[in-house]
Amino acid sequence: MFRLAHINGRAALLDATHWFDLAGVTGDQSLADPMVAIARHAELHIAHDALASATPGGAIAEARLGACVPRPEKVFAIGLNYRSHAEESGMAIPPAPMTFTKFPTCLVGPTDDIVLSGAFVDWEVELVAVIGTGGRHISRDAAWSHVAGLTLGQDISDRVVQMTGAPAQFSMGKSFDTFGPIGPAVVSLDAFPDPDNVGLWCDVAGERMQDARTDDLIFSVPEIIEYLSAICTLTAGDIIFTGTPSGVGGSRGRFLAEGETIDSGAEIIGSLHNRCVAP
Ligand code: ZN
Repeated sequence: MFRLAHINGRAALLDATHWFDLAGVTGDQSLADPMVAIARHAELHIAHDALASATPGGAIAEARLGACVPRPEKVFAIGLNYRSHAEESGMAIPPAPMTFTKFPTCLVGPTDDIVLSGAFVDWEVELVAVIGTGGRHISRDAAWSHVAGLTLGQDISDRVVQMTGAPAQFSMGKSFDTFGPIGPAVVSLDAFPDPDNVGLWCDVAGERMQDARTDDLIFSVPEIIEYLSAICTLTAGDIIFTGTPSGVGGSRGRFLAEGETIDSGAEIIGSLHNRCVAP
């Protein structure tokens, strides 16, 4: 297994408490780039096994982590992919994965601030799949073998910008800078008892808002990959926000305020801690 993070602009592997510079551990400077490391994900299992005898770069608790996938070519996001969330949104269950993009400039690290764009900014905790081996026409049966690992994300959404117009176009309302915290690390699939059944949750200002499992997804990760790759070539480092469960602010009439914190978590993967700040 491995946990791949991004620290001081470089790829790092994590153990339970410390981080290790990947290029330092492997002696291969090209692996300093997290995007290169993701594309060479098979090698990271071997590098992880070498950590026991390696010198750590420091304690994870004292490091500032960047986005674990800093420069994906494509960021897909799936809307209305939990039955409970489609119902609370008053929208029909989509016949195919309802896909939009978050432009990669929105991505930030697991403890970075979220700059509020207005009074109607909302949270959406989501499992994020990281493509490790690209391809076209990937079948659902082969799909997991194309995934480098899983991470956690927040698909932060300005509901006014998202829902303007008919039909509304979601991508810009979800692409403000800082609207895509991800992390803390890309965690390899062999770390999960079942990668199709991961528990995830979201607390805002200390109140549990979302709590679900990914076995409730309408379109599973393999089905999403089959759908997307039937249309466009997937590339190593592409990421997929897989949709959010019920409990978002829009259905509660309650949105993010300056000074509030969002604490998101997922089994095996870890947590995000993001503070909301004024522009
Ligand atoms: Zn979403």
